[in-house]
Amino acid sequence: MSETIFSKIIRREIPANIVHEDDLCLAFNDISPQAPTHILIIPKKPIPRLSEASSEDHALLGHLLCMVQKVATEAGLTNGYRVVINNGNDGGQTVDHLHLHILGGRPMAWPPG
Ligand code: 5GP
Repeated sequence: MSETIFSKIIRREIPANIVHEDDLCLAFNDISPQAPTHILIIPKKPIPRLSEASSEDHALLGHLLCMVQKVATEAGLTNGYRVVINNGNDGGQTVDHLHLHILGGRPMAWPPG
């Protein structure tokens, strides 16, 4: 896959406000927050998008969701939050490295734009 900005964040080649790291993933504040709290969780494995994950990634995908819970709790999102995965062009994905958005700190509207 092609290099992305998130690969550079994983390698610490560009700065990010990192809020969680473990062997499998990294979580950091979005550079252009769409809510008072806007955190991205990314796997260290460079999966381009959810639709390109494979059966060997099942445990990793479960780990990412469990880390959503941990990161959101540590961010103080006690009143709820939204988790978003944009997938591909129609999904609005702009960075080709799988990432989960955690958005919180205000009520979210539905349907999304
Ligand atoms: P997408 O639109 O692909 O679902 O989300 C990509 C997200 O990455 C956007 O919310 C965008 O603001 C964020 N982003 C893009 N470049 C950077 C960066 O260099 N640093 C950080 N922290 N976030 C970034």
